[in-house]
Parts: sequence; C-alpha cells; structure tokens
Amino acid sequence: MDAAIKSLRPGKPSDRQPEGRPAELDPAEFLAAAVRADQPRPARAEAEAAVKTLLAYIGENTEREGLLDTPRRVVEAFDELYQGYHQCPAEVLDRTFGETAGYDDFVLVRDIEFTSQCEHHMMPFYGKAHIAYTPVERVVGLSKLARLTDIFARRLQTQEHLTAQIAAAIDEVLKPRGVAVLIEAEHTCMSVRGVAKHGASTFTSRFTGMFRDNPAEQARFLSLVRGTR
Ligand SMILES: [Zn+2]
Repeated sequence: MDAAIKSLRPGKPSDRQPEGRPAELDPAEFLAAAVRADQPRPARAEAEAAVKTLLAYIGENTEREGLLDTPRRVVEAFDELYQGYHQCPAEVLDRTFGETAGYDDFVLVRDIEFTSQCEHHMMPFYGKAHIAYTPVERVVGLSKLARLTDIFARRLQTQEHLTAQIAAAIDEVLKPRGVAVLIEAEHTCMSVRGVAKHGASTFTSRFTGMFRDNPAEQARFLSLVRGTR
C-alpha cells in the first residue's frame, strides 16, 4: 500500500539523478509552475458542487441560509491556499545580483513563516523555514527566499517534500556552493485529529554541497538557527 502511494509521485530512477538531488524530485516540479495555463481543469461550478457533496456527507442541510455561500467561499479559499500550483519557482529566483563584493560566507534567512496543507488529509501544517546558501556569483534578494517558500507551501505537501523542493530549486537556479534548509512545523492533522497531540513539532532538513560535505558548516548553520531569538 505504501509503495502504491509513493509511486503516484512523478519520479525518476535514482541512478539518473545528479549527485545531491533527492531521488524523488523531478525538476519539472521544483522549477516550473505545477499547472500549465492551458491544462484542462474542472469548472468552478463543478468544484463548488463537490464542496456541497461534502457538506451533505457530514450530515448538513446544504440549503440552510448559513451554508448557501459556503461552497463558493471554500473554492475561493482553495484558490488562495493552492495558488502555488500556478507560480513558477525558477522565475522568482531568476532575478539575481552579480555583485557579491567578495562575500564568501553563507547567507541565512531565519524564521520564514509559512502555512501549507498536508497532502494526506488536506489539513494545514505551519511553522518556520530557515534557509541558507553560499553564493558563488549569483545572489538573490532576501525576500525571494520567502516567496519561494510560499510557492511550494501553497501546494499540497509533505514537510519532507517541501524541504527538498526548496533546497533543489535554490541549488539548481543559483548554483551556490551549498544549500541548507531546516523546517520546523506543527501539523493540524496530528494536533486536532488522529493522535490529537498539540504542540508537537516536526523537524526536517536538507543539506547540499558544502553543507552536506562539511559537518562543521552544518553545525554552524544549526547554531545560528537555534541562536538567541
Ligand atoms: Zn496529514
């Protein structure tokens, strides 16, 4: 069953992956918009009808006044929460500055807040991403790392996949000496349903290049992330 679920991810055989890129990632999913503008999708009315079906399923009277506009509102909320499917990660990172003025250390942006939706339950998980990269020539505006995080967060995700996609996109577009991504998040599918444990945090990380190869750089990244807040 687990294998069947995993195979739904478009993936490539791991032996064809460049070194350091997570085996399950297809460049199409971290460099391009996930949905082409001309790709056929259900009409908005169909999506609203589907929400109405779910309301009836939970036992609601879909004709009562309080619920009349709910299908429309839910679909509008979906448009917002899932806008990342229509945005292109590579485009965000493409505007770079060539001048690094000899800067040769890593750049760290800490505490990038995000909210995403888990692909297993379509329930929110939220937290903070910490991203570092060591530029060679190309440097991006700092807000771009936050925008990149949002693009991937506004798709159905697992935290592991979100972490890997952010690292892979930066690696591929900026070609830095290394990337470090650490994400800490709380999953509402775990805090309000299932085991119902509030306050549990999940940590995921991805290191490439010098961060992968040099434990001292990893440690320095982690101590800066963990430093005084
Ligand atoms: Zn979940």
